[in-house]
Amino acid sequence: ESKLSAIEREELLTKRNNIPELPLVNFTTQYGMGCFEGAKAYPQKDGSLKVFRPDENAKRMSNSMAGLLMPAIDPKMLELAIIEGVKRNSELGFLPTYKSEWEDNNFLTADAVYIRPFSYAEPGIGLGISVAPWVVCVSTNVSGYFKEGMRSRALVTDKVRATKGGTGWIKCDSNYVIPTLVKKRAEKDGFMEAIFLDAAEQKYIEEGSSCNIFFVLKNGTLVTPELGDTILPGITRKSVIELAKDMGINVEERKISIDEVLSDATETFVTGTAAGVTYLESFTYKGKETVFGDGNIGELTLKLQKTLKGIQYGVLEDKFGWMKSF
Ligand code: PMP
Repeated sequence: ESKLSAIEREELLTKRNNIPELPLVNFTTQYGMGCFEGAKAYPQKDGSLKVFRPDENAKRMSNSMAGLLMPAIDPKMLELAIIEGVKRNSELGFLPTYKSEWEDNNFLTADAVYIRPFSYAEPGIGLGISVAPWVVCVSTNVSGYFKEGMRSRALVTDKVRATKGGTGWIKCDSNYVIPTLVKKRAEKDGFMEAIFLDAAEQKYIEEGSSCNIFFVLKNGTLVTPELGDTILPGITRKSVIELAKDMGINVEERKISIDEVLSDATETFVTGTAAGVTYLESFTYKGKETVFGDGNIGELTLKLQKTLKGIQYGVLEDKFGWMKSF
């Protein structure tokens, strides 16, 4: 400072004061007050694109924003943003083409458009909530979530994703720190996915790093952990429950312990926008690997996977009205 003349100092201050307030300031994520969504648009046989349940993504984003005490945004506007994102992407030429390979691939390698709306709410130095959050919508072409050819082994971790009374039920940024670290570590050890148990007792299954989970029991019942404040209410989860009930399958949403799964599950699969319906071959829990069934995709898992993909790629009738064109 002493080396600056009074004039130079004045000039510097004027320059600094003239810097417009950059929107970038709003990118401050230090307090983790952000949330996001993941939606998908699927190429149809007729060359068009259709979005899978964007109204559900919009509703969940709106709930996440409310959960973070951000001012409300009408879900209809968020849905429009999702659809607009896909539309502009396709106008720019990012238009995946329909390939029938999804039919035979258990790891969903067919291309789709992934839409990622996100919002932040903390622009300040201290704890606080912005009165004007903004939403950005990015869309990009994606293929498989899990690496092709990888064995679908899952590690049941003792690390904690969500605690009771916390934010596990909303799709907020901070929820993904531990799952990302745990999953990346598990991948190094040859696992495709990490499965989390409840924080308090380390006894009941909750979900994967970014997917929900289902089990087919010996008696044919399909069980998925019941929703609470520690599990993300997945849109694929909800859809799979609807599909299974429609097939006449007995579906239970309840607590399911790791012991029950290890002794009674014949099929296990995870669900998500990115994961679709993907079977798990085994669980490794406390160092011991337990294989489900014969280690291949189970009968009901395959049926649900084919039905969901069939609807999404426009090959099966969309009898629930899930696919939105634009
Ligand atoms: N759980 C978590 C933690 C997730 O991040 C996701 C992905 N959004 C899911 C479950 C599955 O949700 P959906 O089916 O809506 O993609």
